[in-house]
Amino acid sequence: MKEFYTLISKKIYYSVVFMIMALIMIGLLLGNPRFGEYDAGYMLHIGLAIVLIACLLLYPKYEHHIFRIIIIVVASAFLYTIFFLYPETRSTFIFLCFIPAISILFFDSKLFYFSLLFNGLSFTIIFNYIFLMDHDNVYVYFKQDLVGNVINFLASQAIIYLIYHFTNVRMRKQKLYYEQLQNSERLKTTGQLAAAVAHEIRNPLTVVKGFLQFYREKDTAFDDEAKGHFTLMIDELNTAEQVISQFLSIAKPDKNIKMELVNVKVILQSVTDLLRSYGLLHDNTIELNVDDNCFICANSIEYKQLMINIIKNAIEASNLGDSVTVNAKRKNDFVEMEVIDYGCGMSEAEVAALGTPFYSLKSNGTGLGLMICYHIIEKYNGTISFQSSEGKGTTVTLCLPAIKPV
Ligand code: ADP
Ligand code: MG
Repeated sequence: MKEFYTLISKKIYYSVVFMIMALIMIGLLLGNPRFGEYDAGYMLHIGLAIVLIACLLLYPKYEHHIFRIIIIVVASAFLYTIFFLYPETRSTFIFLCFIPAISILFFDSKLFYFSLLFNGLSFTIIFNYIFLMDHDNVYVYFKQDLVGNVINFLASQAIIYLIYHFTNVRMRKQKLYYEQLQNSERLKTTGQLAAAVAHEIRNPLTVVKGFLQFYREKDTAFDDEAKGHFTLMIDELNTAEQVISQFLSIAKPDKNIKMELVNVKVILQSVTDLLRSYGLLHDNTIELNVDDNCFICANSIEYKQLMINIIKNAIEASNLGDSVTVNAKRKNDFVEMEVIDYGCGMSEAEVAALGTPFYSLKSNGTGLGLMICYHIIEKYNGTISFQSSEGKGTTVTLCLPAIKPV
């Protein structure tokens, strides 16, 4: 119900279904040559009409892939039946040509290809039947120009395919644009937040930390146990300071930051060496496969920060003993990097929330790592995407513009 009604309003859907229902009823009762005979053909017409209307009325409640297939099959059966039952009505042939168009309504590519194939197959069967078996020339309109009808059928399928293809590409582009808009909106809010947080919290923290350090080093009024507590407090304050610094790096980006030719292989080697010991805490290993020709223009510290955040998340998501794979290769004008883990994975809603400030599902997480990654990626005109499946793992794909070393 949810997805369908976001695309089409309930009122419009039911109005159209009622209109179809009325047309089907009129077709059954008014001027129908079989009306009153109640033979098997007419009963089949009535039966399929009832099933089709029931399916259309029930669809919003059971919005499911299988149900869509059922609708296409029932609609095809209904339209092919009226084609067979009323050979004197020339226009029923038009409906056969447009069966795959019904599936465009659902924007389900598998369903579309299924209906295209299913219709092609059904048409081949009726074509052969009429060509070989119709000795009494019942389907005279169809037979009069057999080749022309086949050409029309094929052309209509090609047009429907083109309509579907272009609409689909356009919709995907719009979706991507919308996601990018959401991300940049997120970053804007983050920047404003960062400035406020940094100003309000950083100074008092520094004062408190300074006094704690002073009392720990100098004052004799405190015993060793109390001084141990001071050390803990200072550690916590350091963590808080680190979070604020991360924020600040977004709010006030350093304009003089040095851009250089970065050898992806060298940096990834040093990052994975650094994180290997972190992974060993839970017996996680890191596998690295990097091509030699991967160079980008970036600030190496920022690039390291980006990769550390992503690989660290992969290790933290992994189960005991699992490995994390890091791949990097040249792909046209980009360097494509993949960080693959076989850990807890994420639901679609969780993936959509990534990059939101403070979004973290970890008890000790800051929820800032990915926000910084999005920021860095945007700065370098790159892209980042997540393919994740709950319980199976996650693949993070990063693309950054490649450059040729001189
Ligand atoms: P943090 O690591 O501090 O929680 P991040 O911004 O790095 O913050 O990540 C945000 C959240 O995204 C994490 O808490 C985690 O739930 C989810 N996440 C990120 N990467 C992965 C991954 N590879 N597998 C599963 N969940 C992930
Ligand atoms: Mg993280």
